[in-house]
Amino acid sequence: MFHNRIRTYRTAALSSGNYVLYWMQQSQRTNYNHALEYAIQVANKSQLPLLLLFVFDINFPEANQRHFAFMIEGLKELEKSLKSQGIRIIFKQGDMMSEVVKLAKDASILISDYGYLRIQRVWRDKVASLINIPFYCFESDIVVPVEITSNKQEYMARTIRPKIEKELEDYLLPFHSTEYEGTYLEKYDSINPDNILELVDDSVKPVTSFHGGYSRAVNKLNNFIQQKLNNYHLHNKDLVDSNYSELSPYLHFGQISVIEIVHKIKTSSAPLEAKVAFLEQIIIRRELAVNFCYYNQNYDNFDYINPKWAADSLDFHTLDKREYLYDLDILELAQTHDPAWNAAQLQMVNTGYMHNYLRMYWGKKIIEWSISPRHAYYNMIYLNNKYELDGRDPNAFTGIAWCLGNHDTAWKERDIFGKVRYMNYQGLKRKFDIKSYEDKWLNPNDTTISFGLRQL
Ligand SMILES: Cc1cc2nc3c(=O)[nH]c(=O)nc-3n(C[C@H](O)[C@H](O)[C@H](O)COP(=O)(O)OP(=O)(O)OC[C@H]3O[C@@H](n4cnc5c(N)ncnc54)[C@H](O)[C@@H]3O)c2cc1C
Repeated sequence: MFHNRIRTYRTAALSSGNYVLYWMQQSQRTNYNHALEYAIQVANKSQLPLLLLFVFDINFPEANQRHFAFMIEGLKELEKSLKSQGIRIIFKQGDMMSEVVKLAKDASILISDYGYLRIQRVWRDKVASLINIPFYCFESDIVVPVEITSNKQEYMARTIRPKIEKELEDYLLPFHSTEYEGTYLEKYDSINPDNILELVDDSVKPVTSFHGGYSRAVNKLNNFIQQKLNNYHLHNKDLVDSNYSELSPYLHFGQISVIEIVHKIKTSSAPLEAKVAFLEQIIIRRELAVNFCYYNQNYDNFDYINPKWAADSLDFHTLDKREYLYDLDILELAQTHDPAWNAAQLQMVNTGYMHNYLRMYWGKKIIEWSISPRHAYYNMIYLNNKYELDGRDPNAFTGIAWCLGNHDTAWKERDIFGKVRYMNYQGLKRKFDIKSYEDKWLNPNDTTISFGLRQL
C-alpha cells in the first residue's frame, strides 16, 4: 500500500525513544492517510505509543483568518476522530522546525506527510538536518507519486496524461487501516487551536459558506455524486447552481484524500463520460499542477512560469494600448466596468470560492486590464491567495500561470495577449446564463453572505 509513496529523509535504526512521532502537516485527516497508517503500524510493531503533532505557523505565507478558521474546524474534528481511536494529537504554535525537532528528541522515529510547496520542502529538509532518528514522509495527497509519473516538468495535460494513466492501477489500490493498539499519550501539553485565530492576519474574515473538516468534505462529495456528477461532462448554463464539486478547499488542506474521492467516483452509477470528465480534472489537471510546482521551484515567479513562446509573445505586446487599465485597488473592490468579472471577484471575496470557468475569465481579464503581464501576474497571485480558501495551492500557481500561457498552446496573434489564449464577455454570454450570476453577486440578498466589500 505504501508502494513508492515513501520518501526517505533519514535512515537509521529505530532509536530508543518514548513514542513514534507523526508530524502532520499536509494530510490533515485520518482516512486514507498513508503517513498515519505507517505510523500506526510502526507504533504497534515497536509497542510504542503514537503521538501526533500539528504546529501552527501563524506566519505561513499569505495565510489569514479565513484560511486558519477553515483549517482549525478540520483539525478539531480530526482531534475527536483520533481520540476515538486512542491516538493523541497535540497542537503547538511557533517556529515549525524548532517545534518538530523539540518533540523528535524523545521520539524513536519521525513520520510525516508530503506537500509540494517550497516552504514545505524547506521545513522537511531542515528538520532532517537537525534530527538523528529515522525520518520518512509519505506522498498521500496525490494519486501517483510525482516522480513516478515523470522525472521532469511536463509541457501540458497531453504529455502527462499517458504517464499518469500507465501507473493508475497500481496506485488506486484499496486502503486498509490498521487499528492502533498502543496507549493514549495524555501527558504532553497542547494549545487550544481556537486561540490561534486571534493571532493571525485578520484582514480577511472567515466565511460562512464553507466549513472545514472531513465529514463536511464527505457530505460535499456525496451531494456531488448524487446531484451533480451525472451532468459533470455536459455544459451547464447555470453558473449559480453549477455542476462543480466544491471540493478544492478540502483537498487543499488535505481534509479528504483524492484517492478516497476517486474510489467513490469510480464506483458511482454516473455515466462513464461524466466520470472520465471529473477524473481528468481531479487526477490529470491536479497532478499536472503538482508536477509544475515540484519541478519548477520558481513556480511563483513571473520570470520562470512560462514557456518561451508565451513569455516572448506577451513581452512583445507589453506596450500595446489597453482600453481599460485597473490597479489592484479597483480590482480588489470589484469596481471594473465588467459586471461578470466584478461578480466573480465578489463571489470569491464573499465565499472564498470562485466558479471554475469564471476563474479563467477572471485571470484573462486581469491580463487585459493591467499595465503589463508581470503586474497582472502578481495581482492575480495576491487576490487569489488572499481570498480563495483553496488558494496557495499548486493548483493556484498553475491556474494563474495557465492564464499567461503555461500548459497551453499558441493561438492566433492579437493585441496585448500575443499568441496567448484570450477570452471575452460575449463568449461568456453565449455559454452561460451570466445575468443570473451577475445578479446573485452584484445584488446579493442572501443574508448568509457575511463578508462583503465593506470590510476591505
Ligand atoms: C486563475 C485560476 C486560479 C485558480 N486558483 C486555484 C486555487 O487557488 N486553488 C485550486 O485548488 N485551484 C485553482 N484553480 C484551478 C480550478 O479552477 C479549481 O481547482 C476548481 O475551480 C476548484 O473547484 P471545484 O473543486 O468545484 O472543481 P471541480 O470541477 O469539482 O473539480 C474537482 C477537483 O479537480 C481539480 N481541478 C479542477 N479543475 C482544475 C484545474 N483547472 N487545474 C487543476 N486542478 C483542477 C481540483 O482539485 C478540484 O477540486 C485555478 C484556476 C485558474 C484558471
